[in-house]
Parts: sequence; C-alpha cells; structure tokens
Amino acid sequence: MIYLDTPNSNLQHTLADRVDCVGVGLHSGQKTAMALIPAPPNSGVCFVRKDVEAEHAAIPARWQNVVDTRMCTVLGNEHGVTVSTVEHLLAALRGCGIDNLLIEINGSELPILDGSSAPLVRLLQQAGVAAQPLPRFGIWIDRTIDVAQGEHYAVLVPSATPRISVSIDFPNPAIGVQCASMDLVDRVFTDDVAPARTFGFARDLEQLREQGLALGGSMRNAILLDEAGVVNDEGLRYADEFARHKILDCLGDLALAGAPIFGHLFVHKPGHRLNNALLREIFAHTDAWRRMSYAQIGAHMGRIDERRRRGAAAHAPDTTTHLAVSRRN
Ligand SMILES: [Zn+2]
Repeated sequence: MIYLDTPNSNLQHTLADRVDCVGVGLHSGQKTAMALIPAPPNSGVCFVRKDVEAEHAAIPARWQNVVDTRMCTVLGNEHGVTVSTVEHLLAALRGCGIDNLLIEINGSELPILDGSSAPLVRLLQQAGVAAQPLPRFGIWIDRTIDVAQGEHYAVLVPSATPRISVSIDFPNPAIGVQCASMDLVDRVFTDDVAPARTFGFARDLEQLREQGLALGGSMRNAILLDEAGVVNDEGLRYADEFARHKILDCLGDLALAGAPIFGHLFVHKPGHRLNNALLREIFAHTDAWRRMSYAQIGAHMGRIDERRRRGAAAHAPDTTTHLAVSRRN
C-alpha cells in the first residue's frame, strides 16, 4: 500500500526542498505567492500567512479549523486569520504522501492554477519527497460511520484499501448522473484524479461576482458550463472529469483528518460541508476508528488475510472425493 512516490510508506515524509509558485485566487482574484517548505516529523501540514503579524499567522490544516465551506474549504485560527481554497493542495499532498509541510502564503486564498491538482503535483515532484525517521500513522476504520444533509450523504465503511466512490447528479447535458470510484494507491491519484478540474455554471457566474466570489475564475482555471454543455474550447480531460474532481475535493477535505484514512468512502452529491461533517462524526466516535502506525496496519492486514485464507480452506469443496466420483462416472 503506497501513496504515490513515497519509497518507504511506513515512514513520514516531507519535501526534499523548498518550492515556490505564484497564481491568482479563484474567488478573490488576488495574485498570491506560495512557498512549500519542508517541515519536521510530527508537525503535520500548517499554513502561515506572511501578510499578517507573525504571532497570528499560523493555521494548522486540521478539521477543527474549518470555518467556512460554502464555496470552498476555508481554514481559520483563533485570531480570525483565514486561508481559503485549501482542498486542491491538501489533495495533492495526501496523494503524494506528504505528511509534514509548511505552506507560506502572502494572501488569504491559495492560487487556483489550472483548477486541478496537477500543477501542484508537478511542483511537489520538482521539489522531491524525503523520508523522515519517524513512523507514519493512519486512521483505521473499525465500523461504519455516516452523515446525511438532505439528499447529500456520506458513508465510510471499513476497508484495508483507501478508496473513494462518488455519485453526482447535475441537470446539465455534459454531466447528468456520473459515478466514479478509485483506490487511492500507487499512481492512481496523479494519473487519474489530480488532473480533474473544478467546474462552474455560466448562469451562476454573475450572481457569484456580485457577492465578490469567482472574481479570478476563467476558462483557464475551471470547466465552464452553459445550458448546452461545456463552453471551454479544449473540452474535457476525462469523460467523467466532474465526478473525478469531486473525488479530488473529498480527498483534500479528508486530509484534514491529519492522517490517511483506511476506509472506503461512498459519497452521494459531495460537498465541502458534508466532508467536514463526516470528519466531525468520525472524531466524535472514538470507538469507530484506531490510530495505527503503518507497520501496525500492515501486520493487522496480514492477520486479516491469514484469517481469510484459513476460512477459504475450511469451506473449500473436497476436490479429492469429487475427482474420484468423476472418474467413476
Ligand atoms: Zn475543487
């Protein structure tokens, strides 16, 4: 079980080197500079605003710090300092197996880049991933946890393979009903999920802009849809790019758990609010999960496999007798 390019997945990882980028925020339209900086083991992922007083600047990437989920995931600290649209970077970090990282930013919103996680994955690959001499932990799900918000619902069930399945339903000819399901192992995230872009509807754009949102949005950083379908000249990167982007958002939002989740998440009509509600539900039920090192998870999975093998052997048909009978016939 490997998260992308991490050569020893039992250890924590950070970046091998600092890497920088500049881009426009999707909602603010503001140009911001972002630096991804290696961080010590057990420090987790933390945002630091460089444009506010240093003692108010740190915002740890944890589910307890989510302060708004209406258009994107917004994190905030006790000083009222926020950072928004964190989900695409957090998905890239989880998908690339980065446990510890400092993210310096000189504004309140992360650059949207092309609306997917692909440019962020390229940045991480450019910097390189470095193993750290402490064990990595995961969250092992022991029993089903679910949340519902009207017609939106999420169910997390035990699974030795981290997996996300989504279904969406939009009354647009380019989308309609789409389902996608991915095992988040090896290169699945980088190849099949990271390039999927965010999307928006032309009919909502004017209203959003009146509210001061989507000011940086364009067809360079989102799929734009009108009543006829996709407006972008280049079309789609995948036929089910919309469902894949929802998997990307779920992975980014769930990264706020602070460790990879070993479970299968089914989500119908996912959204940032639902994803955060699921995390709150998980952590409210300490009997439903265990924090285990990857070495412990490996040993636990070995025991499950052994029990399955023994169970299969006990229930296997007696082929010797069957063959003898067949020969007689
Ligand atoms: Zn998104």
